[in-house]
Amino acid sequence: MKLRQALNTITPYKPGVLKEGAIKLASNENPLGPSPRAMEYIRNNADSVYLYPDAACTHLSKKLADKHGVAQDQIIVGNGSDEILLFIAGAYIEPGSGAVTSECTFSEYTFSVTLFGGSLSYAPLINGSFDPKAIAALIQDNTKIVYICNPNNPTGTYITEKDFIRFMNSVPEHVLVVSDEAYCEYVEAADYPETIPLLKRYPNLLILRTFSKIYGLAGLRVGYGIGNAAVIDDLKKTKEPFNVNILAQGAAAAALDDTAFISASIKNNSEGKQYLYKELSALGLEFFRTEANFICFKIGQDCMKAFEQLMNLGVTIRPLRSFGLNEWIRVTIGTQQQNELFIRCLRRIL
Ligand SMILES: *Cc1c(COP(=O)(O)O)cnc(C)c1O
Repeated sequence: MKLRQALNTITPYKPGVLKEGAIKLASNENPLGPSPRAMEYIRNNADSVYLYPDAACTHLSKKLADKHGVAQDQIIVGNGSDEILLFIAGAYIEPGSGAVTSECTFSEYTFSVTLFGGSLSYAPLINGSFDPKAIAALIQDNTKIVYICNPNNPTGTYITEKDFIRFMNSVPEHVLVVSDEAYCEYVEAADYPETIPLLKRYPNLLILRTFSKIYGLAGLRVGYGIGNAAVIDDLKKTKEPFNVNILAQGAAAAALDDTAFISASIKNNSEGKQYLYKELSALGLEFFRTEANFICFKIGQDCMKAFEQLMNLGVTIRPLRSFGLNEWIRVTIGTQQQNELFIRCLRRIL
């Protein structure tokens, strides 16, 4: 069989490593576990799985629309926001199409665009941050999509509201701007953009959110897009009917009401961040200030070797070699106990 040409450059995704006996700080999952309300829903509704799920995710999308103050036809729910990224590329990318993002960002943008035969251009990061001007400068006639990861995975940096609006004003209307906000609930910076109100002004803006991070439901696979109805309609054309399973829909809806869990997660993250800043500074290590639930820092040695050593001591982290940062790692902010264990292990290997 002859593989499609577009697939020649695709290499399989390397997920964060789960090792028995080690704590996992490799995939930015919630260290407090899943939302208790979501767990309760799953326990009480396990016997519903003989039914097909609601293809339109009616209940969940209504709750999301109410939460965000948009119409229900402005929401699309996916099997993780990864699946929404596939919908986006499936709707707008064909061979010859282009897309623009930054170097050193989430790999699913490249994967999805490449899968549909498109090609990407990458703007350089400046001090670990997206450079909206450089990204805008790469837009060409064949550009269909621009991906902004805000806060950026794996650096944790963010684009301010002022820069984001200036950027939107510089993007032609035929180019879809995807604002991937997987970590937005953790953001503490006051000048982080509030993008949902901007949908009225920019028909070409699409926002991605997920239940995988702060809601603690990465294994259930639920993410969603918020956009203008015309864009959401385009995306729906590419969707399998039963893409989000029945327990995931109900559990995600229950998690939305779990305000105590969300507050506890924010607090844990904020305190853990300050602790890690202090310890990394004491070790003289260079790091990026983060608005997410992970910290990216320069370990100053081969990150693959550091990954192995830390794993043998009981912690898995993300080495950033595949991002071109050979001496950098990304560590998820854990519970205080996990953070302390991580720092003890780090001190041993340095
Ligand atoms: C984790 C993450 C997602 C979420 O992916 P899901 O498919 O919803 O689990 C999306 N974008 C970025 C940048 C992420 O880090």
